[in-house]
Amino acid sequence: MTLPPVLISEADIDARVQELGAEISADYADKDSIVLVGVLKGAFIFLADLSRRLTVPRTIEFIAVSSYGKGSRSTGAVRLDLDVRGNIENRHVLIVEDIVDTGHTLNYLIGILKSHRPASIRTATLLHKTEAAEVDVHIDYVGFGIGSEWVVGYGLDFAERDRTLPYIGIVQPGDG
Ligand code: 5GP
Repeated sequence: MTLPPVLISEADIDARVQELGAEISADYADKDSIVLVGVLKGAFIFLADLSRRLTVPRTIEFIAVSSYGKGSRSTGAVRLDLDVRGNIENRHVLIVEDIVDTGHTLNYLIGILKSHRPASIRTATLLHKTEAAEVDVHIDYVGFGIGSEWVVGYGLDFAERDRTLPYIGIVQPGDG
């Protein structure tokens, strides 16, 4: 079994997560605390690393969504599988996503989280497919802009495979 070729190395991810952590910590320096809402499953490793790079007090929640249809592209219809369990009313929420492609998922998540009446909502994603946007959704913190290739590793999967690769790799046509 060959490993997917490297798109973004472990060292580059680590350096960028450290930068994002510093930027986010500075932006929220005047807040008592923030709540990081990680989007399962793909964001679990990014959330773990980013959360440990912050200096602002923070708590962790999780939310899970899935797209209708099993294709590799989101069709725009998103379903809530797991809502946050803790009370986030009047809290400063930072959504932590692994990847934003068309923007439908993040747009849906913002709507769900707004219904919990937080004090504010911002968005962070490790990866952004910059050519794929279909929905005009604001992203406050982006790790890396990438092309339209399917990527795996650092939490992201291809049919549940390769989530624990330490780097971001590209799935080759014919893999799987
Ligand atoms: P969107 O709703 O922005 O089109 O899609 C976002 C979701 O599609 C992500 O949360 C992720 O689940 C999935 N996705 C899009 N592109 C990729 C990719 O290259 N690799 C992986 N593993 N998931 C992706």
